Amino acid sequence: MAYIITDKCDKLGVCKPVCPVDAISQGETKFVIDPDLCTECGACAEACPAFAIEPPK
Ligand code: SF4
Repeated sequence: MAYIITDKCDKLGVCKPVCPVDAISQGETKFVIDPDLCTECGACAEACPAFAIEPPK
């Protein structure tokens, strides 16, 4: 499992530099998390001003 970036993403890009494993990249309509790389540390979710990143369910 991995954290998920929802459609609330405003493409601010705040999450990308805080990810320790560089799992976040810019997609066509929002930033996306590579589930194979994400370690579920939660740093991106804490950093997101739009509250667009959710933990695994
Ligand atoms: Fe990167 Fe941690 Fe966010 Fe996963 S939870 S994408 S490892 S910052």
